[in-house]
Amino acid sequence: MQDKEKSPKPKYNMRQNSAYMISLAWRVKEKKVLVLSLLSAALSVAINLINLYVAPSILSAVENKVPISELIIIILCFTAALIICVAAAAYVGANTLFGRIQVRLSIIALLNKKASTTSYPNVGDEKFGKLCAKAGEATCSNSQATEAVWTTLTNLTQNALGFIIYLTLLSSLDPRMLLVIVATTLVGYFISKRLNEYEYRRREEVAEYETQMQYIDSAAENYEAAKDIRIFNIKPWLEELGDKAIKSYAAFHRRANGVYVWGRVSDLVLAFLRNGIAYAYLLNLALKNGLGASEFLLYFSAVGGFTSWVSGILGDLSTLHRQSLDISTVREYIEYPEPFKFEDGDAFEPDNTAEYEIKLVNVSFRYPESEKCVLENINLTLHPGEKLAVVGLNGAGKTTLVKLICGFYDPTEGQVLLNGKNIKEYNRRDYYKMFSAVFQDVSLLAATIAANVAQTEDGADMEKVKKCVAQAGLLDKVESLPEGFETNLNRTVYEDAVMLSGGETQRLMLARALYKDAPIIVLDEPTAALDPIAEAELYEKYNEMTSGKSSVYISHRLASTRFCDRIIFIEESRITEEGSHEDLLASGGRYAELFNVQSKYYREESCK
Ligand code: ADP
Repeated sequence: MQDKEKSPKPKYNMRQNSAYMISLAWRVKEKKVLVLSLLSAALSVAINLINLYVAPSILSAVENKVPISELIIIILCFTAALIICVAAAAYVGANTLFGRIQVRLSIIALLNKKASTTSYPNVGDEKFGKLCAKAGEATCSNSQATEAVWTTLTNLTQNALGFIIYLTLLSSLDPRMLLVIVATTLVGYFISKRLNEYEYRRREEVAEYETQMQYIDSAAENYEAAKDIRIFNIKPWLEELGDKAIKSYAAFHRRANGVYVWGRVSDLVLAFLRNGIAYAYLLNLALKNGLGASEFLLYFSAVGGFTSWVSGILGDLSTLHRQSLDISTVREYIEYPEPFKFEDGDAFEPDNTAEYEIKLVNVSFRYPESEKCVLENINLTLHPGEKLAVVGLNGAGKTTLVKLICGFYDPTEGQVLLNGKNIKEYNRRDYYKMFSAVFQDVSLLAATIAANVAQTEDGADMEKVKKCVAQAGLLDKVESLPEGFETNLNRTVYEDAVMLSGGETQRLMLARALYKDAPIIVLDEPTAALDPIAEAELYEKYNEMTSGKSSVYISHRLASTRFCDRIIFIEESRITEEGSHEDLLASGGRYAELFNVQSKYYREESCK
């Protein structure tokens, strides 16, 4: 792997990410996560201390020949303390899970919000997509960083507490020995920190393999692709791609594990050094300075215990470091820059009685990854109440033009103005309220027909739903279903769901657009999935549906544009012809030429 392909350093470090999680738990009212974690750490240390002192205390009592009753009391006290602490620790442990899940769910809610409300250009941004996949992975189960970090923080607190207490206990010994312990600790920490950065630096590489594997999985299961997979025997090809992605993924993890092994080896060497020196020192004290048996036992156990606190801290820090890298990814995703203004933009509430004019001034547009402009120097005004048709061959840029009008992209050059004001100034979510639209790629939600039309589960205006469904020509179909408007759609969620045909789905999308009743209607090839009769019927209704509103109607079927006030013809990135259907036919340009080709084709088709 070349250095230049590695990801940059994480934006937030371990301390910042721990603080973020703690403040998040505080904000989402899961303070008990913090209290229980602290309690759990304190109880573990208490149990450890009881265990440390029990044998030396009894030994010391025996050495001092205390009465048997006192010895029994000492043993009972230790046992009772141990029982209480262990029971309390078990109780605390059993109650920590729910709060931690709640905090993770609150992060998932933030991720979902980001995904569904981010500026549209981010949706197609590869870097954003990879961060999204990684953030999703970091929140998908109890063992992932956003939940497991609580266990790490609890262990770290526990090990740090133990470390301080044991350090105090051992401080009466030779300071040089403490120096050995502290030095080996620090060296271990820096080695493991360095090694743990390895995976993070290569997170984009891993995300790429994961995206490939997920894509192949979803392609194999995709209902829409099922026909193509069978007819074109795509399965072996998919398998080949899948194998390739899995092999790269496995090779990466083999490389990563090779690196981690060195971390473990260095830990072992350092622990060996630490313990060896300490034990030799204690033996020396016992033999030469007459250290008592109970004290020897206490210090001997304390040195061993101290090492486990230290290695515990090292292990926790390296786990925390890894988890922190994931939490940093989650935060980088949530904070991914938004090119559009939202709450910081001007508020705007469209009014159906007002007049709106949309103007494109010298607009050029190039997709971020492309070299060539899809649209160049477009000047276009959508007048209030006007029905505008956008026609052109496939790939001419019609949908792109509509995406610019709707504010899904900002022009690379030029401006889009709403009543003279650049739409960049508005809260983009408010600007979207201006449009009702039917796009080519439909998005049915797993909900009832009524909910899909009204875009809400509760509070749908059923009269209005019915009216819009009727206007879109789908009322007979809906009423023929046993559950009517309450019929569920989407089989992946509801077993009893109904499958609508392509044309019916498009009508449903039309009903949804009508229900929204926004000032401007956008129809992107709304007749593409309709049969000729339905198409003709839709043209007739088109006037009625868009009366009093501005509308933009995209079609590559030129005959459909007769109903519009004005037609623009797009070719080679520019508006090359403009006028009414009759004007354009009379001018005998490209529009007329293509119209003749198409009408000849339709005449031939209808004669067959
Ligand atoms: P039309 O609607 O006229 O069929 P489009 O506006 O969908 O055409 O596409 C115009 C051109 O832009 C096509 O060459 C298409 O390949 C390209 N294009 C469309 N969407 C993207 C995208 N997200 N990224 C890069 N190129 C795109």
